[in-house]
Amino acid sequence: MTAWAVRGVELPFGQEPRSWWIDAAGTARDERIEDAEPLPGGYVLPGLADAHAHPALTAGPSGPQPLARDAARANLLEWALSGVTLVRDAGSPGGLTLELQSEPGMPAVQAAGRFLAPAGRYFPDLLVAPVAEADLVGAAVGEISRGATWVKLIADFPDLNGGPDLQPTYGYDAIAALTEAVHEAGGRVAAHSTSAFAGRLITAGVDSIEHGTGLDEDAIKAMANRGTAWSPTLTATLGHLDAEARPDVRSMLGEVRDRFAFLLPLAISLGVPVLAGTDVVGSLPREVALLASLGLSPSQALAAASTWPRQYIGTAARADIVTYHHDPRDDPDHLASPAAVVVGGTRLR
Ligand SMILES: [Zn+2]
Repeated sequence: MTAWAVRGVELPFGQEPRSWWIDAAGTARDERIEDAEPLPGGYVLPGLADAHAHPALTAGPSGPQPLARDAARANLLEWALSGVTLVRDAGSPGGLTLELQSEPGMPAVQAAGRFLAPAGRYFPDLLVAPVAEADLVGAAVGEISRGATWVKLIADFPDLNGGPDLQPTYGYDAIAALTEAVHEAGGRVAAHSTSAFAGRLITAGVDSIEHGTGLDEDAIKAMANRGTAWSPTLTATLGHLDAEARPDVRSMLGEVRDRFAFLLPLAISLGVPVLAGTDVVGSLPREVALLASLGLSPSQALAAASTWPRQYIGTAARADIVTYHHDPRDDPDHLASPAAVVVGGTRLR
């Protein structure tokens, strides 16, 4: 097994270059390890982390589309090559991501199993088996038994059969029972929410708010009190603002952007874990750039796509090292061209 010698600036918050060594198990040491392989690149991360990803989906003309197993596997291998060492899968049709075997050169993956939503309340191509409220706890615990570490709850969504916009999908008591059962089973709950109902999800005990375009200051304070994380998925929620042609949508997205520019720095100052996620349309360099444009420092924006999700989502000890020739805090585009990538002890570039 290989040990690695790095000399550089420890991202995301370091300033001065130094030398350290990382043993084959991924433990960093200040003492020299003889025979360690030196890595190029003067800026060093434990890799990028994508906290809201869908390896088993792709963007289609009218929304996300399911991928077959080989394509989902290929996505994970490609992401690793680009320097992503940790992926939280935020749901897959039928829980396909749970069936992908871990292999050398793959990121660490924490998967959420299938999407939990009632009939007519999520993208029909992705909702293989809708879940009625009476079956919610059993379905969630079933995904944990299959190997899910997270459960993906679609907590609000438009009624695709023409009902009122953006109503909660399940009642408060059902969601509280779900979070209690999932926590009991050793899992955590990621809740998709784009409405102002997010506040009640926090008191119902969900562990992370996905998207969160309806969050407000009170909700952020409640998240800080309960340790709830936030994946704002900015490319998915705000990425097309500049290209948006419809004035009403433009103005709605502009309001979200202005609110996020207040809430994101507030969340970080209160200790809410802010976690970058690409969803189906983004990239981590773009997420980092958007986070910085909404008031995070370059180091904070990079932490949201690396060390903060590693701390919050957790990953078993493993040698993950990604280096860059240029400081990605000067320009997030540098993240797209790593100098060296070691994923789970396997050097990929
Ligand atoms: Zn998603």
